[in-house]
Amino acid sequence: MKNTTETIQELKEEKDIVVLAHYYVDGEVQRIADYVGDSYYLSKVATQVPQKNILFCGVRFMGESAKILNPEKRVMMANALADCPMAHMASIEKIKAVRKAYEDLAVVCYINSTAAVKAHADVCVTSANAVKIVRKLPQRNIYFIPDQNLGRYVAAFVPEKNFILDDGFCHVHADLRADTIEQAKAANPSAQVLAHPECTAEVLALADYVGSTSGIIEFAGMSEAESFIVCTEEGVRHELEKNNPGKTFAFGDEVPICSGMKSITIEGVASAMLNLANEIQVDTAVSGKSNLALNRMLELAK
Ligand code: SF4
Repeated sequence: MKNTTETIQELKEEKDIVVLAHYYVDGEVQRIADYVGDSYYLSKVATQVPQKNILFCGVRFMGESAKILNPEKRVMMANALADCPMAHMASIEKIKAVRKAYEDLAVVCYINSTAAVKAHADVCVTSANAVKIVRKLPQRNIYFIPDQNLGRYVAAFVPEKNFILDDGFCHVHADLRADTIEQAKAANPSAQVLAHPECTAEVLALADYVGSTSGIIEFAGMSEAESFIVCTEEGVRHELEKNNPGKTFAFGDEVPICSGMKSITIEGVASAMLNLANEIQVDTAVSGKSNLALNRMLELAK
């Protein structure tokens, strides 16, 4: 009798499915994926793969982005209920009000947003490309939605622009506390602190490196340090330990866990593949407008 991993490998061939997984899902799920990465990498991969069907192991906004960029493909979620609370935090009414209040404004939307919100943005960004993209925008006023922490971090690198920050946040990263990071550092002074810019300014101030998930992985690989205190979702441990057998990675006393990402299992993957289930649908008008913002990101990030 076949095990779940063997079933998944067979279904990939049989049904022409490529499996994309985010670094935050369980290691067991990452192992059966064809591509593993952060939001920016996965959005690029989604436009390049030849398969007719894409199975997304991540939260809903990721599957929506893949569908918007590939309207002709079937995009399925490993778990239809896996969602990101921050994706729903930006308000379309507020975007309209800010557009009225400011001339020369660009609405810059973190990719962690619903398709409906992206449809009201001028450009999308990820944590890996936000600084680069905002610098290239001609507008002086930037309404950065929804993540206030990422927005504040980006603003510090682009002082020539006027930032209006939204009030959204990722509870997984925002809940990380500076005092617990300080305690971990005091217990292991040679450890380097690596933080995702969704963390608060107090946590970022303690970091030796701040960057996207892929940036954190790259930095840890190149660093000569042997131990690290990692301030992002715990799923990244899989890639960090795989790439760096001699190094140790701690995630603080309260290990940051994203319940949406952790709701994905290889059994769920196999079931969605078998039944071609959990297909993402995006309203055509919404898809057209959000496609502009996503493609502008891919263009400006080059
Ligand atoms: S880690 Fe935070 S931003 Fe990322 S999917 Fe989970 S809740 Fe959303």
